[in-house]
Amino acid sequence: MSKVALPPGLERLRSQLLARSRQPQVSQPKATTARPPLAGLNGGQLLALVTNWYCPNCGRTDQTREVQPHTRYHDCPKLAGMSAPLLPQGTKAKVFTKEREDYVGQDLVRLDDNGRPIMTVITVRDEGQDAMVFAPTAVLRAKEL
Ligand SMILES: [Zn+2]
Repeated sequence: MSKVALPPGLERLRSQLLARSRQPQVSQPKATTARPPLAGLNGGQLLALVTNWYCPNCGRTDQTREVQPHTRYHDCPKLAGMSAPLLPQGTKAKVFTKEREDYVGQDLVRLDDNGRPIMTVITVRDEGQDAMVFAPTAVLRAKEL
């Protein structure tokens, strides 16, 4: 097999990579933080992060294997079919809906299974609050232009 001549910069990089690959592997020091790492490399294999989820209202559970930050949703029967987040197991929180209080008129609003206009799904945790807001859809007619 003939050797292909590389430009000097690439040849130097190739030599460095080859030298690095021949060095013995050094074990990683143990993490000193209180929280576990989200994912790690083990011999080149990416370890998946298993997250167990639950709904504090209907009790539904689920499991995901995702490294990136994410949130799981479901149509909760206890919240009249509204899409609500599942919570990581061990998280104490309250998830509830808030009905739209202002005049609906001709606005296209999000209705729950009971026909009530829902403005937001709120998640209240010890350290904060999240809200999923359902803004009304604007309606524009061509003759109004
Ligand atoms: Zn639920």
